[in-house]
Parts: sequence; structure tokens; C-alpha cells
Amino acid sequence: MAQITFQNIWKRYPDGFEAVKDMSLDIRDGEFMILVGPSGCGKSTALRMVAGLEEITDGDLIIGGNRVNELAPRDRDIAMVFQNYALYPHMTVRENMGFALKLAKVPKSEIAGKVEQAADILELQDHLDRKPANLSGGQRQRVAMGRAIVRDPAAFLMDEPLSNLDAKLRVQMRTQVARIQHQLGTTMLYVTHDQTEAMTLGDRVAVMRSGVIQQVDTPKHLYASPD
Ligand code: ADP
Ligand code: ADP
Repeated sequence: MAQITFQNIWKRYPDGFEAVKDMSLDIRDGEFMILVGPSGCGKSTALRMVAGLEEITDGDLIIGGNRVNELAPRDRDIAMVFQNYALYPHMTVRENMGFALKLAKVPKSEIAGKVEQAADILELQDHLDRKPANLSGGQRQRVAMGRAIVRDPAAFLMDEPLSNLDAKLRVQMRTQVARIQHQLGTTMLYVTHDQTEAMTLGDRVAVMRSGVIQQVDTPKHLYASPD
């Protein structure tokens, strides 16, 4: 687990566009933080800076007490789940979930244990030997989460992970994501443009508009606020 702190973070793209402006945000250890706002407001840019996929123009990014601005993605102890889950089609669920650990040369028996454990949490025990093509959208999304969970990261980053699912499944998966996060207690930064998702999932919600964080509060307090 880890605290993630944005300290006056700026992102200016090479064309001069300022996608994130002076962003400060403190995500507590084990907290489920939502970053919500309309398309183009800078959410993905903020998340990608935490992941190390986008350079930080100015400010400090602190994860678990360490400034990580210059750290490579693999050295940040975080796992990211994308909306297009990008599973390997030729691999089974088991192989997909264990692949990162295999690359990291984790012993086979240890990988098997971690995959089984993640499959239990995600209710994928009966599907471990199937290929992604034979899974439902919700199952595929859970496999993508499984790949993140087996790495036992200090924090999860999720970028609209449910946006490719149909409405009914999205509502079901919301419950699952919340359950999984509470079960694991891993710090979470979750990006969405969907206000309902934000209000039902988050411990706290950061509202972003045009690159600026406008408000950070619990869903309950945000509902009660005048605008
Ligand atoms: P969101 O995730 O909220 O939809 P993004 O972080 O993807 O927003 O994008 C924020 C803004 O930055 C948008 O206006 C987008 O067009 C712009 N942007 C994203 N990537 C680049 C880039 N590589 N170069 C210039 N502008 C970019
Ligand atoms: P999404 O909205 O699904 O997050 P986008 O289609 O906005 O994705 O962006 C896809 C890719 O294009 C990203 O890598 C992003 O950085 C880049 N991009 C987005 N907007 C711009 C832009 N205005 N100029 C250059 N690259 C951009």
C-alpha cells in the first residue's frame, strides 16, 4: 500500500497545450480515489504521469514517500488497468494472469499460487484454462484486473476500466471493483467521466475540469455542495 501525492503537478504537451495545471492531490494509503470530469479535462494525462507513461513538466509526484518523477514505470510498484484490456489471445486466463510474473522470473509454484489466489478473489476459478475469445466482457475485464492483482502492487491505476462494457454489466462490475478494492485494501486511483460511477465507487472524488482539480470530497459531501 502507498500514499500517492501530486504536488503542484503540471503537464505541458510539446505543442504547448497545458493538460494538467498545478494539480495537488493527496491519496491516502488504501484509499479509493476517483478522478472524474468530462472528456479532455486531463484525467488520463494525470493517471499516465503516475504510471510513468507521460513525462511530468513540473511539480513533484510522491509514491510511498519517494519522489518518482524520473522512475521508470516498472520501478514504481503500481499496476495499471486499461479500458481496452489487451489480453494475449493465444494464452489461457491462467497464462495471461501469470505472464508479468513469468517475465520477472518469479518461480513457477509461486506464480501458480498467486494466480489461484487472484482467481478466487475475482471468481474466475472455473475459467482459468479458457482463452479470452471464449469469455464474456465482464470476465475479460476481471482477467485484466487479475493481471494487476497478482503483482501485489502498492497501488492500482484504472483508466475507464468499465467503459467498454454494456450498461447492465457495468453496474455489476462496479460492485465487483468496490468489493475487490476493499478486500485487498490497495490504494486506488480510478479515472472515469461517469458521475454515477464516481459517486458509487469512491471513498473520495476529485472533480477535474480543464486541467484543474476543482473539488475533492466524499461522495456524500459532494452531493450536498451547492453546485
Ligand atoms: P481525459 O482523459 O480527461 O479525456 P486527456 O488527459 O486524454 O483527457 O487529455 C487532456 C487534454 O490534453 C485534451 O485536450 C487532449 O487533446 C490533450 N492531449 C492529450 N494528449 C496530448 C498530446 N500528446 N499532445 C497534445 N495534447 C494532448
Ligand atoms: P482516450 O480519450 O481514449 O483516453 P484519446 O483518443 O484521447 O484516448 O488519445 C489517444 C492517444 O492520442 C493518447 O496517447 C493521447 O496522448 C494522444 N492524443 C490525444 N489528444 C491528442 C492531441 N491533441 N495531440 C496529440 N496527441 C493526442
